[in-house]
Amino acid sequence: MNILNFGTAGAPRNPVNLSTVEGIKRITEIGLDCLEIEFVQGVRMSKETAKQVSVVAANRKIRLSVHAPYFINLNAREAEKIQASQLRLIQSARTAALCGAGDVVFHAAYYMGTTPEQTYDMVKKYFLEVIDQLSKEKISVNLRPEVMGKVSQFGTLEELLNLTAETNGIAPCIDFAHWHARTGKNNSYDEFCGVLSKIEKKLGKTALGNMHIHVAGIAFGNKGELNHLNLDDSDFKYEELLRALNDYRVGGIVICESPNLEDDARLLQTHYINLHNKNN
Ligand SMILES: [Zn+2]
Repeated sequence: MNILNFGTAGAPRNPVNLSTVEGIKRITEIGLDCLEIEFVQGVRMSKETAKQVSVVAANRKIRLSVHAPYFINLNAREAEKIQASQLRLIQSARTAALCGAGDVVFHAAYYMGTTPEQTYDMVKKYFLEVIDQLSKEKISVNLRPEVMGKVSQFGTLEELLNLTAETNGIAPCIDFAHWHARTGKNNSYDEFCGVLSKIEKKLGKTALGNMHIHVAGIAFGNKGELNHLNLDDSDFKYEELLRALNDYRVGGIVICESPNLEDDARLLQTHYINLHNKNN
């Protein structure tokens, strides 16, 4: 039986300014299951800290993932920017492995005025070089390009499913809030089931058993995502999403990115456990 774990993007907000180690301890105290470590401004964690993080998380059975820096664009015009992007991804994966984190989430690219097809080819090419380097270093983590919320960003559901199907070592990070913001749709039980059945068709049932999911409330305009909101201040139908996830027996990690982080993570977890217990 697959089961979903719930956690926050970065250490819980309350109390403020928790380190990653303190964040993991806090996750345990409030009854959550996992934590996505945010390297979004750069990978600055020392090896010693990473090893400490790994021990503290393993002792508490808290599952970890990592979010790579925002400054990644595998479709940049300049060769140096591509190389810097690849290096940020590699550094994120190295530190993730030291932390005992199994997944590295990242924003792959911008279209930069090129076609989605051209962008896809660039992303795939540079991405394969990253995979190659990581396999030389015997680092085994899932690299997870994220479904993105703005129409200027590479990362539609279809792009990521195709890329995953064609490339070993990657899996998608399905951000349901981004997908809703980008499409203006995908906010009902039937549509959530549609996304899950697309994943199942393209990547097989096992992909549904090990997903990395982002959820938050979200504000959006005609170009997609504007900013995150707390779930109850947004139109996001999270109860319908949880019902779809439960009905499809989805397993893996759900990371909450609402401004109130742990409060909405607990809200999602509580709803999910109720559903899960009722149906099983
Ligand atoms: Zn992200």
